[in-house]
Amino acid sequence: MTKKNLALEIIERLKKEYPDAGCTLDYDHAWKLLVSVRLAAQCTDARVNVVVEDLYKRYPDVDALAAADAEDIEEIVRPCGLGRSKARDISACMKILKEEYDGKVPEDFDALLKLPGVGRKSANLIMGDVFGKPAIVTDTHCIRLVNRMGLVDGIKEPKKVEMALWKIIPPEEGSDFCHRLVYHGRDVCTARTKPLCNKCCLADICRKEGV
Ligand code: SF4
Repeated sequence: MTKKNLALEIIERLKKEYPDAGCTLDYDHAWKLLVSVRLAAQCTDARVNVVVEDLYKRYPDVDALAAADAEDIEEIVRPCGLGRSKARDISACMKILKEEYDGKVPEDFDALLKLPGVGRKSANLIMGDVFGKPAIVTDTHCIRLVNRMGLVDGIKEPKKVEMALWKIIPPEEGSDFCHRLVYHGRDVCTARTKPLCNKCCLADICRKEGV
């Protein structure tokens, strides 16, 4: 089976397995996803979802967060780890949204990439989830799973994985596919324990590289 055909089959099976898979960060405004995605670096989405509740109680909109001292933001976001740099990025990012984008999140991949603390993974997440555009989010689950499945061959660098997946994943499927990889990576194709291949809906087509 070619990588493209393997990808299409995996996409279909994961759709059946996780029909409602979506972003595991809670947000009701685009700027909040921007904040959460920065906080999620080296932190669980579950913890981020709790911490942002306190943050938004005190700073309910872009203007309030842009006006906040980075030290005060740091106090609240510290449980997510890397508090100082995350607070600094969030503060700078909200100031740019306020001053350059009228408080809105830009609908442009390159503009997103220029925001403090926003890398390709985050920019793709925003493009896919907020704007419904083609997106490939290469987080730790994605990179581990696509290597094991044989969709890429021994590529670990996120941008290279992203570029390899663009060649074989239909653009409109990318965002949901990556969300489903997160679910599958947590429940079945796990990182810290041996993956549960005997319970996996992909067992007969997965190449199980390195497993
Ligand atoms: S068959 Fe095993 S290695 Fe392949 S996706 Fe399933 S759990 Fe992961």
